Amino acid sequence: MPGPRRRKPSRVLLLGGTGEAAALARAIREALPDGVALTTSLAGRTTRPVPVPGDVRIGGFGGAAGLERYLRDHAIDRVIDATHPFAAQISAHAREACDAAGVPRLMLLRPPWRHHPLDRWIEVSNIAGAAAVVGKLGRRAWLTVGASDIDAFAGVTDVRFLVRMISPPPRPLPLKLHELVLGRGPFSLAEERHLLHLHAIEVLVCKASGGAATEAKLTAAREISLPVIMVRRPPPERGQSVETIDAALAWLRRGG
Ligand code: NAP
Repeated sequence: MPGPRRRKPSRVLLLGGTGEAAALARAIREALPDGVALTTSLAGRTTRPVPVPGDVRIGGFGGAAGLERYLRDHAIDRVIDATHPFAAQISAHAREACDAAGVPRLMLLRPPWRHHPLDRWIEVSNIAGAAAVVGKLGRRAWLTVGASDIDAFAGVTDVRFLVRMISPPPRPLPLKLHELVLGRGPFSLAEERHLLHLHAIEVLVCKASGGAATEAKLTAAREISLPVIMVRRPPPERGQSVETIDAALAWLRRGG
């Protein structure tokens, strides 16, 4: 008799907040239409989340213990962690909660970007490290980091920052000199070239998120030999991981 880990999934919790998670939710709905109840969980950081099929719940769980409780209360039998590679806390909580509740867990992790010989990357370990060097590399910087990372640059008052966000920030950005543009990826190479040129960008700041949706800015930077301050990824959480939607679907089909 198959053990509980091999039973077909019936209630899947998808930890989201990324384009990949939204794409996976759509793929699960198409490929496994019957009998699988799908819930996507979002932290609630953006006011305009991408619509996804299935149920959506919004907001934190209250730590690993809260997530474990949620798994038990909702009889979740599979978890797919498709959160952003820099969202280390929720991924650690997912591991702890799934281990405690005995729920199989898979991580959908974007492949990292590969360094091209013509890239001028300056790698730093964290956002504070990026803030410490940006002023040495240029006076006009394009800051492609999340809203919660912008505070780290508040003390950099001699650099004009270009900031691109999905939706307008709820409160003024804590930057002395900045311009805000709105947009949701994926962005084309032509769009990224245009932005670099229009704002006379001298240095790009980004997190080593990986994935295709935001890679064009790196190609555009490479074309004009622009320095790129690249914040290294935190180490991935322990456990099974895949890089593609198809592999995640295959994991569900196999029973996790
Ligand atoms: P984080 O530091 O790993 O998590 C902080 C807390 O936010 C977690 O402890 C959890 O609260 C809550 N949380 C995070 N993701 C959640 C989810 N999918 N569903 C429910 N609660 C969640 O995460 P973060 O870096 O702030 O990222 C928040 C969200 O934005 C994630 O969903 C991530 O995929 C997305 N995102 C992050 C980045 C980035 O650069 N960090 C970029 C793009 C998108 P409790 O402890 O109360 O459960």
